[in-house]
Amino acid sequence: MIRYDCKTGQRGYAAGRAFVMRYSKAEEYFRGEPAVEAERLDRAVEEMNRKLAAGKEQGGSVDTALIDAEILILNGDEFIGEARRDILEENLSAPDAVDRAADKLCAMLENGTDYIKERSEDIRGLASGLNAQIMGNGPLLPAEPCILVTEELSPGELMMIGTDCIRGILTETGSPTSHVSVLAGNLGVPYLYGLEHILDKVRHSDYLILDSENGCILVNPPEETIREAEERQESDRKTREERKAQAASRTTRTSICANISRAEEADGLLDAGADGIGLFRSEFLFLDRNDAPSEEEQFEAYRHAAEAMKGRDTVIRTMDIGSDKKAAWLKMPDEINPALGLRGVRVSLGHRELFRTQLRALLRASAFGNIRIMIPMVASVWELEEAEKEIRAAAEELDARGERYRIPDLGVMIETPAAVMIAPDLAKKARFFSIGTNDLTQYTLAVDREARGMDAYFDPLHDAVLRMISLTVEAAHQNSIPAAVCGELAGNPQAVRRLIEAGVDELSVSASKLALARNEAADAEEMMEKENALKKSGGITSPADGFLVPMEEIPDPVFSGGVMGECVGILPADGKIYAPISGTVTVVAAARHAVSISGDGEDILIHAGLDTVKLNGEGFRLHVQEGSTVEQGQLIMEADLDLIRERGFNPMIIAVRLKPQNEI
Ligand code: PEP
Ligand code: MG
Repeated sequence: MIRYDCKTGQRGYAAGRAFVMRYSKAEEYFRGEPAVEAERLDRAVEEMNRKLAAGKEQGGSVDTALIDAEILILNGDEFIGEARRDILEENLSAPDAVDRAADKLCAMLENGTDYIKERSEDIRGLASGLNAQIMGNGPLLPAEPCILVTEELSPGELMMIGTDCIRGILTETGSPTSHVSVLAGNLGVPYLYGLEHILDKVRHSDYLILDSENGCILVNPPEETIREAEERQESDRKTREERKAQAASRTTRTSICANISRAEEADGLLDAGADGIGLFRSEFLFLDRNDAPSEEEQFEAYRHAAEAMKGRDTVIRTMDIGSDKKAAWLKMPDEINPALGLRGVRVSLGHRELFRTQLRALLRASAFGNIRIMIPMVASVWELEEAEKEIRAAAEELDARGERYRIPDLGVMIETPAAVMIAPDLAKKARFFSIGTNDLTQYTLAVDREARGMDAYFDPLHDAVLRMISLTVEAAHQNSIPAAVCGELAGNPQAVRRLIEAGVDELSVSASKLALARNEAADAEEMMEKENALKKSGGITSPADGFLVPMEEIPDPVFSGGVMGECVGILPADGKIYAPISGTVTVVAAARHAVSISGDGEDILIHAGLDTVKLNGEGFRLHVQEGSTVEQGQLIMEADLDLIRERGFNPMIIAVRLKPQNEI
């Protein structure tokens, strides 16, 4: 078995036989006259166009606009026009001309931003596909479940292959934000990249394990590991299906909405369980093209999304161009630190006509559904005021044209610490907030979200970020507006309960995470309800942090049978035990494992662990004694949970509301 470190494009775990996509070499090619070569090129382009169009039609959940971008490159003068000129004027073979044109185009992009550089991946993929076509030797496509392995891959190729057979993707070149990565993410396929000399290291039919958690692949592991990997895949698949079915039967107070990048992704979202669209990243309409989209084109896209939502919220973010998302046609200054430069609302306010066009399209589309406009990267109140002015001006223009329109609610995306600190002021002018935790983490922790090697510092669960979220929600609620979270944190199972506890009203996640978010939110809400019910029943608070276990599920008949009184179990997160009520400590067990407190008409027994009387006090540290007066929430004892487990006891903490003596 060999292990290679790789980089993660899309997280996940996959195992299976490698399907190596290879093309034959150009040296084996028999070159014809220039006219013949030009014709071979034309035929290959025609065939490629046909395949791309077919792939687009079969699109399904795939983002078809990415294919449009490929078609645009394929038919552009800079690529195929250049190749044709080289064939006719310099007598190059068609494959050599394609390679040279691709090299030139990629070299031009080399000087661009990271985002533009990443388009080179698409061009290289197209060149490989064209040459395979010209040489009459297109890649064999997988027919059985496999891990797709190739030096480079274009979105179009991925579309043509389809993903029914693909368990995972491994490429030599790539990046987490390349279009292939975006597609893989939309389709829920794990994607690793960055394995140099990939074709020397992985051979067709090798058994591969892709493991993004450990950032590595395993090539030809032993039988035992293969068996475990197959089992893990199967159990992952079952879990996903169960989670989906379970989510469909659950309702939550918290809205669960979807993030989309293209209007067509709105189709089928309601059936997939979305309560609406929480973030439509409209800037994707502006990228990968030669000019700005017209008002009409934008209107159609926004209307499409709004209509698909059938009256549900459709939050459309105005173009968040800049930083890693530069539109090639829009002249932007060279910036040393683009994440801190012109982006989001700053670009909109610097290009008023462009912004006004987008707003007119949004206002017109609002007549067909429940569109809400959201402004990204706000740091000052005046930016929001300027956006409001532009909306009014757009409305006046539409009045003058006699167009049908509606002025949608205006919201603010909270992505900068500045916006958090002035959230009370912003909340007076906005109708809703949505917290973009990706950027909020970047700017709060001063960690570039695109930079390599910074993973350890990019922590959206950092206390600083969580407090920013709480402050935002507080400001929103004090001003009676809702607060959503639409960054990646909304789909992070470790975060959902904390977000809901912070009072977040909506989670907006990618379509593949809708079920997960619904289930996590439902669990969190149920748990909180139980805790609240317990608190309400006499102002008793939980004696420990952890998960609640209902009385009937406590694995001890004395407690589950209610012999001593009504009780609840807690699977403790740590060994700290607090007073559930204020009062006097009336009993401390000789074995230090149980304490009871009386106060305000209640008698509560806290019993740490099941059967732990047998430990004779080992593993328990008391902070009170009989007769001590305690305040609710005061630390009264500590239990060494590791020791309790090591000795074979269940560490569940039981809180018993003791029956009055005469009832026992
Ligand atoms: C965010 O910053 O959290 C967000 C949702 O916006 P984007 O990831 O598009 O910057
Ligand atoms: Mg953002």
